[in-house]
Amino acid sequence: MSLITLGQKESHTKVLLLMGSRFELTAISTDQEEAAKAIDSGIAEIKRIEKLISSWNTNSQTSEIIKNAGIKPVVVDQELFNLIRRSLKISKLTGGAFDISYASMDKVWHFDGKMKEMPDSSTIAASVAKINYKNIILNPDKRTVFLKEKGMKIGFGAIGKGYAANKALDIMSKMNLTGALVNASGDLISWGKDEGGKDWKIGIVNPKQKGRVFSWLSINETAVVTSGNYEKFVTINGQRYSHIIDPRTGYPVKGLSSVSIICPNAELADALATSVFVLGKDKGLELINRLKGIECLMITDKQELFTSNNLHLDYIQKPITNHKYQIKIGE
Ligand code: ADP
Ligand code: MG
Repeated sequence: MSLITLGQKESHTKVLLLMGSRFELTAISTDQEEAAKAIDSGIAEIKRIEKLISSWNTNSQTSEIIKNAGIKPVVVDQELFNLIRRSLKISKLTGGAFDISYASMDKVWHFDGKMKEMPDSSTIAASVAKINYKNIILNPDKRTVFLKEKGMKIGFGAIGKGYAANKALDIMSKMNLTGALVNASGDLISWGKDEGGKDWKIGIVNPKQKGRVFSWLSINETAVVTSGNYEKFVTINGQRYSHIIDPRTGYPVKGLSSVSIICPNAELADALATSVFVLGKDKGLELINRLKGIECLMITDKQELFTSNNLHLDYIQKPITNHKYQIKIGE
């Protein structure tokens, strides 16, 4: 995923690394100070969320839950409790394709390019046995989370960025701006109008057709979230494995090269993009076509394009300099 921003008088943008990803926050306002304040508030919000949900920070509530797997329930903030509750809802909706307890595989697969051989199948089998969202036990009265089995882990890699983008944009939209956009390395959500007073528009670009917009999407108050296997992956024996794990097998999923979900909620879009990756083309499209107000665009690993029934793209092939934002699909 990549983004291009042209210098505009009233558009203020900050790019920085948050949650291990490149975040870009844009505020539209004639008041430069207000724009800077809005961006800083958005950043503070993302940092706050990162603290709560990070599983690599050993002091986070999420780490506390993991440390107590198979031992005891842990009392957490309502916010984290609710995020886990929503995650479990998405697990149900997707028949377990989305599962935050995928994280027990973290020690098996490393997507930093260092892995050279396949993990052995018994290691995978031992870890995959720990994946099961039904063993994440919530007690709303006590506000506790309990991972039933020892060795279970949870991780918000497929939903956290979307959640943070929602929350940051929410805060920015309450300030004196005419528009705002948060882009969390490909998880993009906008509010209001762009600096020309028009609906935010992004161009979808297939990197194979350099310099050409493949289609426009008007993304007013809508999130566009793309999961692709071209950013994080591992190559073993010439075969590319994505960082999205099939919770049923413990192996990285195959078949799709990029999935974009378009809907008003960045968190839901984030989680569904990952889910569709796991479900694959047919089951993924079937799911999205059942859901109202949620659309999907996917590229298979054979570079074929498929969209959900209600997503109509105009194939207008324009030079990319005519727009500010672009998402890359495919490889
Ligand atoms: P991107 O990094 O492109 O935004 P995703 O939003 O699809 O990717 O999130 C992928 C991340 O989600 C993985 O790196 C991992 O942390 C986590 N994950 C992998 N498989 C699953 C799964 N089946 N369910 C939930 N989370 C997953
Ligand atoms: Mg996702």
